[in-house]
Amino acid sequence: MTEEQIKSTLSQVKYPGFSRDIVAFGLVKEITIQDADVTVDIALQTKDPKVPETIFKECQEALGALDGIGNVQVRIDVKNPEAQAAGNAGGEAQGKSAIPGIKKIIAVASGKGGVGKSTVSSNLAVALSKTGAKVGLCDCDLYGPSTAQMFGTNQQPLANENDEIIPIEAHGIKLMSMSFLLEDNSPVIVRGPLATRYTQQFLRQVAWGDLDYLILDLPPGTGDIQLTIVQTVALDGAVIVTTPQEVALIDARKAVSMFAKVNVDILGVIENMAWFECDAGKKYHLFGDGGGVREAERLNVPLLGQIPIDMRTRECADAGTPIATVSETESSVSNAFLETAKKVAERVTR
Ligand code: ADP
Repeated sequence: MTEEQIKSTLSQVKYPGFSRDIVAFGLVKEITIQDADVTVDIALQTKDPKVPETIFKECQEALGALDGIGNVQVRIDVKNPEAQAAGNAGGEAQGKSAIPGIKKIIAVASGKGGVGKSTVSSNLAVALSKTGAKVGLCDCDLYGPSTAQMFGTNQQPLANENDEIIPIEAHGIKLMSMSFLLEDNSPVIVRGPLATRYTQQFLRQVAWGDLDYLILDLPPGTGDIQLTIVQTVALDGAVIVTTPQEVALIDARKAVSMFAKVNVDILGVIENMAWFECDAGKKYHLFGDGGGVREAERLNVPLLGQIPIDMRTRECADAGTPIATVSETESSVSNAFLETAKKVAERVTR
């Protein structure tokens, strides 16, 4: 029996609900082999008791099927992320995030790219700050960060004496993005466990200071980076961005079920690119009518807002001034973001 043999056997065990296995996720901490007897130590964070149960059973089965194996012992150290968070915050009131100083951490997610998740994250951050809150925005998309451009900044962040990265401030928002750490616009080629580690570091080693809200712009999809974030940070809720189109809705459902698996509350759905209104005031539902509304009903969560397709919104994003920085009386989209932000704030403090 070799450690390699045991590892490759354990890599058949998938994390429940995900296509990645427990070895790739870095959950297997130690393998001890004595003659034919094997002990495996696994550590994970979840509130769902079914996760360790399933992993335990599947590890026992996979290892038990190996030729010549003796006693198999699978030990799983399960930590509750909420208890961790409360501990980290010095036992303060429940609901405190695992990142000290931050009151609420909200993930913005979408099942697929191109639906306007980053546009919504940026504008939501700006609109929340308009209500008087202190807001940070972390672009967690290692492969396609866009926050820097949307906020019109290309500053390189500095580190403080504690070796923490000082976020860049733009339009009143504290920003952190992988793109700040890139010299040019070269794509980041990190995969699997390394990507996971980068993301963790990214979230923890930033001197955010005191914030009312930290918005996490998650990468599109439901892969291991998303899982890392939802596993390592005590999220206060997730917002799902979708267009009304059926193909986007199908993927949005996947994002919803990912959060459900790790017991993260879905605050609601934001329907982006809901319609286009021409100068004559006629609305065209380019991507279908009411998909987001129906989806929110189906999921039994609120529809937090509907954002139309708007040329100025795109122009503002490209010019580095999110539309929400414009006065609400001047832009109906800015107003829509402010109303949406108020609903998000209300839902997350409930
Ligand atoms: P994602 O983060 O989901 O990949 P982005 O936020 O980068 O999507 O948006 C994709 C493109 O669509 C960007 O060019 C953005 O400016 C544009 N866009 C997003 N939402 C709107 C909108 N409501 N009206 C007009 N353009 C939009």
